[in-house]
Amino acid sequence: MDLAQYIRNVPDFPKPGIQFKDITTLLMVPEAFRETILLFKSRYENKALDAIVGVDARGFIFGAALAYEMGLPFITARKKGKLPADTIAEKYSLEYGTAVVEIHRDAIQPGQRLIIIDDLLATGGTVGAVARIVEQLQGVIVEAAFVVELPPLGGRKCLAPIQVHSLVEFMVE
Ligand code: AMP
Repeated sequence: MDLAQYIRNVPDFPKPGIQFKDITTLLMVPEAFRETILLFKSRYENKALDAIVGVDARGFIFGAALAYEMGLPFITARKKGKLPADTIAEKYSLEYGTAVVEIHRDAIQPGQRLIIIDDLLATGGTVGAVARIVEQLQGVIVEAAFVVELPPLGGRKCLAPIQVHSLVEFMVE
């Protein structure tokens, strides 16, 4: 199944010049959503994972479905101020200004093997910040997984040496 055909391109959203890759259209096709989850499952089922870390908000959709399918704990990496208990936070750069992501301090135990999952890899800033938190908690990042990758934006290089896996690539910015 060619998953790329289910991802809608919305030009000039949220601002002029951005090609927004909209995964809501993939989610509305049950066979495509299921295929996405099963592709991730087949890649990770023999990797001895202990948990899956999903990134707020679209990473939750894929991460939670995968965790459910694999019978693994699901850990949320949330935007600042949403998690109620003690957290570790990391800042990252957006095009204008900065943002902060947090994980509960007791969500990850040292030595646990994890993947981090989000819908899309652009510059890598978001998942880079999540990875720094996981590393502070001494989690082992097996891979960072994405439905979509935009190679021209250089996220793979930004995340190195963390291994990156994506299902669909678009050569646009
Ligand atoms: P980055 O931190 O630059 O890798 O950006 C990744 C985050 O921003 C992901 O959570 C995406 O959902 C979102 N994002 C960035 N660029 C796009 C794009 N062109 N289309 C859809 N989502 C995007």
